[in-house]
Amino acid sequence: MNQQASRAIVEALKKVTPIKLEGQYRAQVSLTPHVVKKISNYEGGYKPPSFLTPRCEFKCKPAKNSEAFENIKWTNIPVTTGIYRGGLNFPEFCCICMRPVEKYEVIQLGITKRGGTLQLPFTDREQAELISDAIFLDRFWYTIPFCNEDSLGSEGISFKETDTHFIIGFINREYGKLFGELNKMEGMWINKSTILARTLFKFRLVISIFAILMGALFTLVSFAETTTTAQQSDVSGPSLFWSLVLLLSGIGVFGWSLFFWIKHRKGENL
Ligand SMILES: [Zn+2]
Repeated sequence: MNQQASRAIVEALKKVTPIKLEGQYRAQVSLTPHVVKKISNYEGGYKPPSFLTPRCEFKCKPAKNSEAFENIKWTNIPVTTGIYRGGLNFPEFCCICMRPVEKYEVIQLGITKRGGTLQLPFTDREQAELISDAIFLDRFWYTIPFCNEDSLGSEGISFKETDTHFIIGFINREYGKLFGELNKMEGMWINKSTILARTLFKFRLVISIFAILMGALFTLVSFAETTTTAQQSDVSGPSLFWSLVLLLSGIGVFGWSLFFWIKHRKGENL
């Protein structure tokens, strides 16, 4: 990390608010300052690209190369939470347009260390959220480089937090390639087909399974009716036909969704 990026982190660290918690959770904690943007908090300035925008995605392990600024020691619970300098290196260009870097913005990604709800009488929602983050999360801070015109609000970089890792996405494929080389990580280019495959997969799966089940049920019922009451076959005939149509379309859509998903779910190599 270069000097200017380190300075952005140091400045952010100077702005943390120390607070002493009593009661259910007891410790001295530092609350994340405003200058560090959270992805769950859009009003804080971060705006992700639309989910339909192609991007290169990287699955990042938070602990790798990270460095602890602060480890909070809880007096009554055997779990530590902390603030870390994230171990990812960002190539020294604007991550959206590749122009020279003019500024760094600090972002916080969190990994939940334990579940729970905060049962303290906080009236200030923002304060309560910050305290809750300090109690339940390991907080990783990253400095992201931008030109003068771009920022975390420019819809050019995406972040996703899970319980074990982060997914970082860049809409600039060239920047993504450099990021992958610098951090020795394999990224994938998520194109429109992949976005479509991922988005529609579950939806189509539910619809097609429903069609298969209903089709199978109707087919069985109509078939039973046809065989037991031969004289009513005129009535049961069309319903058996439509049941079979439903069943076969269900199987068709299911097969096609599965094929489309298997083919496109991973995206292209960078
Ligand atoms: Zn830029």
